[in-house]
Amino acid sequence: MAEPGLLLIRGLGHSGSTILDLALGAHPQVIGLGEAVRVLDRPRPGEERKGPQQLRGALRFERHCTCGALAGDCHVWGPVLAWLPAHDDRPLAEKFNRLIQLLSSASPRWLVESFQADEQLLEAQALGRPLRVIQLTRDVRSWVHSESRRGVERHGRSRVVGWRSLLRWWRVNRRLEQRLAGSGFPVFRLGYEELALAPELALRRLCGWLDLDFDAAMLQPGMHSTSHIVSGNRMRFESGQSDAIRYDAAWMASSALSLRMAPLLSPVARLNRRLVYSNGLLGDTWPCD
Ligand SMILES: [Zn+2]
Repeated sequence: MAEPGLLLIRGLGHSGSTILDLALGAHPQVIGLGEAVRVLDRPRPGEERKGPQQLRGALRFERHCTCGALAGDCHVWGPVLAWLPAHDDRPLAEKFNRLIQLLSSASPRWLVESFQADEQLLEAQALGRPLRVIQLTRDVRSWVHSESRRGVERHGRSRVVGWRSLLRWWRVNRRLEQRLAGSGFPVFRLGYEELALAPELALRRLCGWLDLDFDAAMLQPGMHSTSHIVSGNRMRFESGQSDAIRYDAAWMASSALSLRMAPLLSPVARLNRRLVYSNGLLGDTWPCD
């Protein structure tokens, strides 16, 4: 059996990577691993007690893996989480390969990793397996809107947060586009809007690119995913949230100036169209810009 390839979902955080990871994982030949790098990466000093790093300790017997088992009892994550504390100085590639070895009996074609901000695996040629990248991008207006909502929850109302988010969307996505273009890896540009508003078309297109037959189970990721995700968007723990792929269109009712201006800033509008709508799945009625 050929070694499984590695499929990385990369882009700006909060762009829908967890639902895509789960949807891909619902395909019988694909296994999703969530934000595996976040779990495997050595905790920075002072962060041992934060976030997914805690899965090395007691938290692994409190949190569930998406396979249904407690993370510490999952046949994939369990042994790795127990092994990590004494081996945190090992290179990420070695840790990742250890995780992957535990999956070989399932003989998947593709393994998905979805920590969007990570670039270490892009450099891990040492993994010695086929590597492809999905650059997942959410429409700038939708991303800025939800980022502003989060900003307001965290820091109180601020007019600056919208503009700051807009700048960040532009900076991070443009840099990643350039980075991927220079990497030589096959890249599939997928818009979150295309995925959420035309899920079947988008997933069919994606399957074609991965040399897989489309499987309708992918449209109901929460019910069929065979993934082992212990770290990702908390949505996966909320029942009903991942039964189907849905779109949150709240931004369309927003009158925030940063949001309304985005399509008028032509470099932003061009990047948005290129990264989010390149597959042309939404027809003429959706306001691509
Ligand atoms: Zn599991």
